Order: sequence, then structure tokens, then C-alpha cells
Amino acid sequence: MADTNVRPVPIGAERVTAADTIEVRSPFDGERLGAVPACDAGHVDRAVAAARAAMAEGLPAWRRVEVLDAAAAALREQQEDFAHTIAREAAKPITTARTEAARAVLTFQFAAAEARTLTGEMIAMDAAEPGDGKLGFTLRLPIGVVGAITPFNFPLNLVAHKLAPAIAAGCAVVLKPASQTPFSAIALAELLLGQCGLPEGWINVVTGGGGSVGNAIVDHPDVAMITFTGSPDVGWAIRGRAARKKVSLELGNNAPVILEPSGDWRAAAAKIKVAGYSHAGQSCISTQRVLVHRSIVDDVVAELVPLVEQLRVGDPMDEATDLSALISPDDTERVKSWIDDAVAEGAEVATGGEVDGRLLRPTVLTGTTNDMKVCNTEVFGPVVAVQAYDHLDEALALANDTRYGLQASIFTGELAAALSAARRLDFGGVLVNEVPTFRTDQMPYGGTRDSGNTKEGPHHAVREMTTERLVVISP
Ligand code: NAP
Repeated sequence: MADTNVRPVPIGAERVTAADTIEVRSPFDGERLGAVPACDAGHVDRAVAAARAAMAEGLPAWRRVEVLDAAAAALREQQEDFAHTIAREAAKPITTARTEAARAVLTFQFAAAEARTLTGEMIAMDAAEPGDGKLGFTLRLPIGVVGAITPFNFPLNLVAHKLAPAIAAGCAVVLKPASQTPFSAIALAELLLGQCGLPEGWINVVTGGGGSVGNAIVDHPDVAMITFTGSPDVGWAIRGRAARKKVSLELGNNAPVILEPSGDWRAAAAKIKVAGYSHAGQSCISTQRVLVHRSIVDDVVAELVPLVEQLRVGDPMDEATDLSALISPDDTERVKSWIDDAVAEGAEVATGGEVDGRLLRPTVLTGTTNDMKVCNTEVFGPVVAVQAYDHLDEALALANDTRYGLQASIFTGELAAALSAARRLDFGGVLVNEVPTFRTDQMPYGGTRDSGNTKEGPHHAVREMTTERLVVISP
């Protein structure tokens, strides 16, 4: 029987459904929110063809600027609607969802600035004798059709971080959003196409499973670049599969923060209350490992635990809720079992650890060690692991003892310690007197090692999505 309430997806000028559908349910209470088409490789072919046709028509920079400006304005106007969509499909508390929607406005504004100023460079041709008298410069050109694959945890702003720079760069996009959170992405695509003057074909959405639609995008010969945000295993498999494409990976992390005795650790504890538990810890830079100098570890735990116990767990649509359900019951079970494993290996639960239906209480573990899963693997849940150290060298080594490398931080009152951390922490970003969870949307954001191979943020993403052509003119 045909499914009712299926949200069609834009492919070229058409609004497309499919014989099969994917049902989307609230992670909080299982309520059916709707369904999207389960697209297949044929839909991907159509989407890529539409994207190529759009690029063949071309869209000059001044029109791309107009689209991006209009998108920022329309998003600001419709921020509350987008926040509701995010909150319902991702079980992200409505207050946090509003912050995500507000950030998406900035992402478009920064992309508009890039579209206004994107240029190549002059080459000093006469610096080499054979070049004397010649004029040399580069043109920055769109790389081609971009295939974008996005995760569930920021269903609007991480889609914005693909679409906005692609528009700025002049690239048409085939987008596959996470199957749990397709509605924010489709709404954003429709806003761009329907309200902001972006011609049909520039954004095409293909909903469907990673193994089917995702692979079809990755394998498609007419897709020039894959921009992927998600888990390391999937990301590196894509990298291996698409040897001849440009592949940008924004992947996972197990972010550490180092608390030195000279630093304002009370301020740090207040920030960790948010940074470790926002969206139930399902952020790639969620504060996960808290490395504390042994002389203050008891004080830090005594400060942090009551703060964490104030957090309200519940319905994402409730204004008072701080965190809600994890994205799936399987994930709740997985995180709970990692807490239990840590306890069996010698850690203690300072607070939390209990599961109530679909909700996991925010948890602080103490006495953790780097061989425990809650330390050496990305938890992606509301769990913070506190570890004591004796010397800064040891703290830096513990922080670096991970396969990930997205962001790390230190709280210290000593310049020498701050500079040492900045030089020695092997991460894409090092923050001083701030949690590693801090991000604004213009920052160069991206990891080393298993955390990825690129930087996002419109300025950087636009450069990833363009190529340079050298032009040399002889008189
Ligand atoms: P995921 O399971 O890797 O999924 C991400 C996307 O990849 C989804 O659209 C998924 O589709 C798709 N996918 C799955 N298998 C695929 C395949 N074989 N080929 C192509 N695409 C495939 O990640 P997630 O659970 O949504 O997100 C959590 C992860 O993202 C965490 O590791 C987190 O740290 C990371 N993340 C990183 C950043 C960053 O900027 N560094 C930001 C946010 C999140 P389906 O939904 O249909 O399975």
C-alpha cells in the first residue's frame, strides 16, 4: 500500500517520490513524523544529470551572492520553524535547536562573503627570466558536481556547511542527508530553490540508505567531489572507494580538555556542564575526556557533579529540557554498556549511568583510564570521563593518546603551559581557557588522524570546492 505523508525530494525541476519509503520517527517517543522516498541509484543518476545541466547553464557570482543573502534572511525569518523540525527529528532540545538554526544563518552569511570575494591570484611571471614580459594569474573555477553526505546530529547547519559554500563556489550539489533526519535538509533545499532564487537543479536531494544511495553518489563518474561528515569508518571507506575524486572528510573525535591548577577550573566545570551533554553528547566535539591535575581532581568532581545533576532530561519540545534521547535505542544500550564496562574495569560513577526508557541520565565517570572504551573511542553520548594526571607532560601525552584529532583544549593561567599545549596537542584545533566543544561557523574546522583530512567553514570549503586554472598571457 502506498505510504501517505511522504515528503517528496527535489531532483531537477521535479518533486520525486519512490516506490519504497523510509519512515522517520521521533527518537524521543517513537512518534511517526513522516516518511521520505527510499531513492536508488536511478534517482542518483537523475540528480547528477540535473546538477550537470544546471552547471552547464551557469550562475554568475552576483546571482550566487543574491541567493546566499536571501537564504540568510529567509532562514532568520523562519528560524523557529527550522528549530522545531530539528528538535523533532533529532530529539535535540528546542533551545539547542534554535542555536543551530541561528548558526545556519551565519553559515550562509559567511558563504555570501566568500562568493563576493572569490578570486585567483597574480603570479610574478617576471621573477623568472623566461616569464619576463608575460602576465600570469589563476582563475578559481568550480570543481564540478559535489556529492554531499551528512550526519544526523546537526541536520540543518551541517547541511548548510555543504550547500552554502557549494553555491558560493558555483557547484551544483547532490545531497544525501542522514536517514533519521531528512526533513531539515529537504526544507533547506526547498527554501533555496523556492524562496531564494536558486534555479532548479543546483540542489538535488536523494534520500535513502548509506549503502545504496550513498555508495551510488560516491561511485558516480560525474560527481567530482565528495564532502562527507559522519563517522570515521564510513568516511575512510568512502575515501578508499573514490580514489579519483576529491574527498573531504569531517569525522569523529573524543575531545579532551586539560584542567591545570592555575586555570579557572570552576569556569571550566560550568562550561563542561553544557559541552559534555548538549544534544546528549552527540556532537563531534562533545567534551568527553576531562584530564585533571591530581591536586584539584576531587575539587573539580565536587564542582562538576552537582552542575550535571541540575540538567533536565526529557521531551525535546519542552523549553526546560537540557538533553533528550539518544538518536536510537541501540545507541542508548551501547553507551550504557560502555559505562558498565568502565565500571567493571575500575571506574566509578560519580553521577548518572541509569537508563529510563529512551533516556540516559547525564553521567560523570571518575578513575577512568585510556584503555577504557569511554576514553579511547568516541562515546557520542552524555558521558564525561575524568582522569587524573601528575604533570602537564603526562596530560599532553594522555590527550594525544587517541586515534582522533579534531579539537582539544586546556584551562591554564600560565602562558608557557598554553603555548606548550598549542604546539604539542596533535589536533586540528587547540583552545585555551575554552572547552574543545567551542565552534563558530567561520573557524577553520577539521581534524587530523582519524578525525578527517580537511577544513570546513565557508572560506576553506569554498577553496576545497574550486580548482585553480593558470592563465599566462604573452604580449
Ligand atoms: P554515519 O553513520 O557515518 O552517517 C553519516 C552519513 O553517512 C549518513 O547520511 C549515512 O546515511 C551515510 N552513510 C552511512 N553508510 C554509508 C556508506 N556506506 N556510504 C555512504 N554514505 C553512508 O554518522 P552519524 O551517526 O550520522 O553521525 C555521527 C558521526 O558523525 C560521529 O562520528 C560524529 O563525530 C561525526 N560528526 C563529525 C563532524 C565533524 O565536523 N567532524 C560533525 C558532526 C558529526 P544513513 O543515515 O542513511 O545511514
